[in-house]
Formats: sequence, structure tokens, C-alpha cells
Amino acid sequence: MTSADLDPKAAASEGTVPEAPRRHFIQEIIDEHNRSGRFGGRVHTRFPPEPNGYLHIGHAKSICLNFGLAEEYGGKCNLRFDDTNPVKEEQEYIDSIITDVRWMGFQWAGIYYASDYFEQIYQWSVQLIKAGKAYVDHLTADEIREHRGTLTKPGKDSPYRNRTVEENHDLFERMKAGEFKEGECVLRAKIDMASPNINLRDPVLYRILHATHHRTGDKWCIYPMYDWAHGQSDSIEGITHSICTLEFEDHKPLYNWFIESLGIYQPVQIEFARLNLNHTVLSKRKLIRLVQEKHVRGWDDPRMPTLSGLRRRGYTAEAIRNFVEMVGIAKSNSIAEMAMLEYCVRQDLNKRAARVMAVVKPLKVVLTNYPEGQTEMLNAVNNPEDPAAGSREVPFSKVLYIEQDDFMENPPSKFYRLSPGREVRLRYGYFIKCEEVVKDAAGNVVELRCTYDASTKGGEAPDGRKVKATIHWVSAAQALDAEVRLYNHLFTKPFPGDDEGSDFVNDISPASLEVVTGCKVEPSLANAQAGTGYQFERLGYFAVDPDTQGSTLVFNRTVTLRDDWAKQQKSK
Ligand code: ATP
Ligand code: MG
Repeated sequence: MTSADLDPKAAASEGTVPEAPRRHFIQEIIDEHNRSGRFGGRVHTRFPPEPNGYLHIGHAKSICLNFGLAEEYGGKCNLRFDDTNPVKEEQEYIDSIITDVRWMGFQWAGIYYASDYFEQIYQWSVQLIKAGKAYVDHLTADEIREHRGTLTKPGKDSPYRNRTVEENHDLFERMKAGEFKEGECVLRAKIDMASPNINLRDPVLYRILHATHHRTGDKWCIYPMYDWAHGQSDSIEGITHSICTLEFEDHKPLYNWFIESLGIYQPVQIEFARLNLNHTVLSKRKLIRLVQEKHVRGWDDPRMPTLSGLRRRGYTAEAIRNFVEMVGIAKSNSIAEMAMLEYCVRQDLNKRAARVMAVVKPLKVVLTNYPEGQTEMLNAVNNPEDPAAGSREVPFSKVLYIEQDDFMENPPSKFYRLSPGREVRLRYGYFIKCEEVVKDAAGNVVELRCTYDASTKGGEAPDGRKVKATIHWVSAAQALDAEVRLYNHLFTKPFPGDDEGSDFVNDISPASLEVVTGCKVEPSLANAQAGTGYQFERLGYFAVDPDTQGSTLVFNRTVTLRDDWAKQQKSK
């Protein structure tokens, strides 16, 4: 059975009229805008990462949505760096984000930086001050928090709230000129300290940071807050639909208040549910800790849910796009299963990955009746799912390796693979029978002495006798050495750190990485390029790691062949 047989969608569509793809609520909103002429038929979105970490699979959802809508409606999508916090942002992150968005298969209309708008945002701040809608506050951060009140308690006015326009303007210029220390004062919007929406209780617009910005250097020592920069950046770029995750729903009145107070072009903010995935963490704050505390080898460690980690692991952009599509766009939060992501990559690699034979834990087999020094070439199909992939020759000879797990000296009743006196088929080759087990002094099985039946070439016996198992193998003389990295969930728990007071790093799985050396792979892999994915027959999908150097190939297991998710769906 191929995994395509398990695809519920593929099965449902066979022989039936394909259903029109379901439209999600954001498409419906855009359709309505197009009908009413709200934006003159324009669709202009943006993907706005803060360059304070690498992108993860949650960002892929936002990328597919924003770029996908632009493609669908013949519009545009900007890549905008929301770089308003010099303390946490770096050029390395910008570069990685550009690489990842391109890898996802999207083309931006342009690359923009919020920091390019610092001058304009500063001028708009002066405009707000002059309109009596912003003031310089000398309360400390703690005092501001205290004054802000709670959901049940209204806030209290700051004693600095009623300064004159002239005084505020003068103080703001002095903030900009560097006359104050960090934390000494901030610029706040003057909205409503009693608003039921806490975001409207005089939010901070500017704080002082004597830090060097990765793009503007030391030009500024005041930096706009996210809310004060984001909507204005959207407005400057002529964004029509400013799509963000649900946490920003409560910020929308503020988004609109800023734009309306300034009297500038107004985009529409639309919120959707962020992607959550079990058995991992999707927050840059946590991912940074994994990297900095060296729980993983780096941002692109194949166990990371980052796009660079998934790519190194062997995920294709198409598999990720399909996954995002399957998750869908909704207005309420939910948690996707890692098994579904694995299902998507399996589906994609099933179509595109060449099959090869590789033995991860080798056991030597000597064919006692096979001519010494003879090598024959056997024809092997590259991909049964893709006839265009053709076939290749694999060498066969007297000494082979098989998988240790494919032999048992004292097999239980359900074990059909090789054991003493039993016959099995070698993939693309012959039937072999185990005649003798050779052990070392410690009693470990180190070699099997077998006979082969020359009349079974191609896998069928002329006398019609059957074998119950087909196993993979490689020819010892021509085999290449390899290191194989086997990955499991990075976290033991589906929701890391979920227990009260527990730190998510305590849930890191000690079995998340198993490095196996001394593996043997078929010689056709001699020139395998980093990043290429293969199916190791019977074992799973594996991708060549960039650590591959000299004659030892390094492979990452992308995913096993066992499909828990499809099975689960069937039994539902
Ligand atoms: P994190 O919580 O990982 O730090 P963030 O929201 O701070 O994420 P940004 O760089 O601001 O990270 O995100 C860029 C865009 O990607 C934003 O529009 C954000 O809403 C979106 N995004 C981030 N995480 C997810 C997610 N899990 N699912 C969908 N979209 C996301
Ligand atoms: Mg953010």
C-alpha cells in the first residue's frame, strides 16, 4: 500500500465531481471589499517578521496566507522587517528570513523595514503632541503598570498627563537628542485611562534605548513601540489587509485610533488563529533558549520546528505548504498534530524521493555457494510512484550486509524475516537461506552463512515456493560508509512545560537524537548532494546533511514510513 492510498481526500475525490475549494473567512472579507470597492479592487498584504530569531512553521502559516492571498487576487505582498527593537535584532536573522521566505516559494513585491519609517513616525509623534494627544511621562515602568489598572479596575492618570503641548514637545525633542537616560521618560498617547480596553489606557509610543540599531546605527536613541510603528508602516506601504494573529484583536481599536488621529490612509486589520503544534514549541523566545543553552546544535538543528531545521531534516517547502493548507484558516485557536505534519512530508517524498537500499545497523552475510570474486548488477526501480524516475543498477556479490533487525536466532511466531533454516527474498535479488550463525567470544551474532538459490533471480522461484519476507541489503565490497542521525520528538510531552511551575526545557527528550555510525549504503549514493531526500527502502525518508564530508555520508532521518496519522484518521 502506498501512502497515497491512505489519503482520505484523494480517495474521496476519485470518481466524484471535485468539490469547489472551501473559501475561508479572510477570502470572504476580501471578496466583500472587492464588491464594495473598499480598496478599489486592490489586494496588498505583508508578512512582517521581527528579525529577532529564525522563522518557524507557525510563520509558514502567515507566509502562505499573506503571499497566497496576493497571488490568488493578483495583488502584492511585501516582506517587511518589523525592526523597532535594536536590542534583540540582528542582520543574521534578516538574512535567514529572506532565505526562508524564498525557499517557501514566494516572491515579495519589495523588502521594507520599519526602521526606514523612523523619521516619518517621529514626525507623526510631534503631530500627535501638537494635537494634545500625546505626552511625555516620567513615571517609571513599574509605576506605569500600577497606574494602568486591571480588567476590573480603571487606570489612574499620571501626574504628568496634563502637561502643555509646548512642554511635551520640548521634552520629546530632548528625549530624541539623548538628554535622558533609558527609563527616565517615555512618550505616551493620551487616550482614556478608564477604557475597558487596557490597550487604550495611554499606551507608550516611544521609549529611550541607547543602543546601536543594526540598520540605523546610532542615529536614534528613541524607538517606537510595536503598536505605534506597525499600523503606520502598513499605512505608508498602502497595505489593504493587515493580517495578524488573534492576540492582536484587542489592539485593533488602538490600530484604528492611531490612523484616524493622524488622518492617514487606513488599512483593515484582520485576525486569524495562530498555528499551534504539539510535541514542540513555537515561540521565538523559547526557541532562542534552546539554541543559547545548547539543547540543540543551532537554529537549523533538524529537531527544531524552524523552517531551516525542517529543511535540513529533509522537509520540502511543498510538504509544509500542504500542511498549512490542511490546517486551514480559522478564527478560533486549535492545536495541530505533529503526526499530520509528518504525514504531509511522507506524502510529498513518496512522490519525489528516489528509493535506495541502506543498512543502518549492518549484519554481515556470506553466501557460501556464490562464486568468489563475482559481481553482478541487478536492476532496481528508482521510484514506483514515478515511472519517469527510471531504474539503476545495484551490485550484488558474495558478501552482503543486511539489517541486524531482520535476523532473529530464536524468532517469535510473528517474525517472518531471516532466522536459522529460514528462507527470505533479497530485494531485487535472490532467495537466500540461513544455514549457520557465527558468533564472537561474547556470544554476539557477527555473521550469517547463507546459501542463495540461483534460479530465483528477480525474486520468484520457478518451483512456485513462497517466502514470507523481502529484506533489503547492500553488497559489502561496493558499499559506502555513512552516519545516520535518527530523530524523535524533541519533547516527551505533547505540551512541553504544561505542568504548573515546570520549565519546558525539562521536557526535552533524551531520545530526540540517536547518532548511528558504521552504516552501509548502496554505491549509487556516491555523489548525493546535501539536501537531497531519499527513501531508504523499508526504513523511512532520509536527507543528506551538509555535514557530509569526504567519504562518509551523513543522513538525517526526515520521517519513518509508519503512518500513525493516517491510521488514526481511518479508525475515527
Ligand atoms: P513568536 O511568538 O514566535 O515570537 P511573533 O509573533 O513574535 O512570534 P513575528 O516575527 O512578529 O513573531 O511574526 C511575524 C508574523 O508571523 C506575524 O504576523 C505573526 O502574527 C505571524 N506568526 C507568528 N507566529 C505564528 C503562528 N504560530 N501561527 C501563525 N502566524 C504566526
Ligand atoms: Mg510579533
